[in-house]
Amino acid sequence: MSEEAFAEQRKQLVQAMNLHSKSVEKAFLSVKREQFFPAELKQYAYADSAFPIGFGQTISQPSTIAIMLEMLSVKPGDRLLEVGGGSGYVAALLSELVGVKGKVFAIELVCELQQRATKTLTQLGYKKVEMRCGDGTLGWREEAPFDCILISAACRQVPKPLTEQLKEGGKLVAPVGGRFTQEMVLLQKEKGKSVEKDSKCCFVFVPLKGKFGN
Ligand code: SAH
Repeated sequence: MSEEAFAEQRKQLVQAMNLHSKSVEKAFLSVKREQFFPAELKQYAYADSAFPIGFGQTISQPSTIAIMLEMLSVKPGDRLLEVGGGSGYVAALLSELVGVKGKVFAIELVCELQQRATKTLTQLGYKKVEMRCGDGTLGWREEAPFDCILISAACRQVPKPLTEQLKEGGKLVAPVGGRFTQEMVLLQKEKGKSVEKDSKCCFVFVPLKGKFGN
């Protein structure tokens, strides 16, 4: 498929998603989802679904990502953490939202996926994203605290190190629940405590592994 054909499909998907936030809409229009897809699946890059990226993992569904991004209301200049970086697609969207003054840190448990994602992000010129391989339930202590944290895998509860690494007033979004269905929960840190601000039903993510995972 040609660049133009992908661009047209990207526009159509964004229109169909009916986004509330202009900045989130702009981010979706800027990031080429096909670049984060395995070669044999690129033709499906603008279907609003999750797709396999290898190692039993998936690239998240655009409309689900949109819900998470709109719940977080990321601002230019923010320092963000994504747990479960996978293909790097969400990290690229986050990078568009934080702009040149912000920074995105992403952790991916499967080192092969992290290496592939880092390569893709570098090739596409996403200089504000740093991705490493490791257990994201421990957070990224050296770079904390964060304005926003996004957990891209299903957890029974939000790992404690992550709420600890959130700034005062900072926001965290995560799919919380059992193996087969989760609620998208928005927490905000107020006076040192995480307070639930919003939740939306129902989502299905791959499980969050690691020390404070499932
Ligand atoms: N946001 C990704 C989708 C990721 S799917 C994208 O846009 O492509 C969830 C990812 O979380 C998987 O790649 C999985 O390997 C990863 N994961 C699961 N447990 C993890 C952990 N403890 N730390 C870091 N990554 C984890």
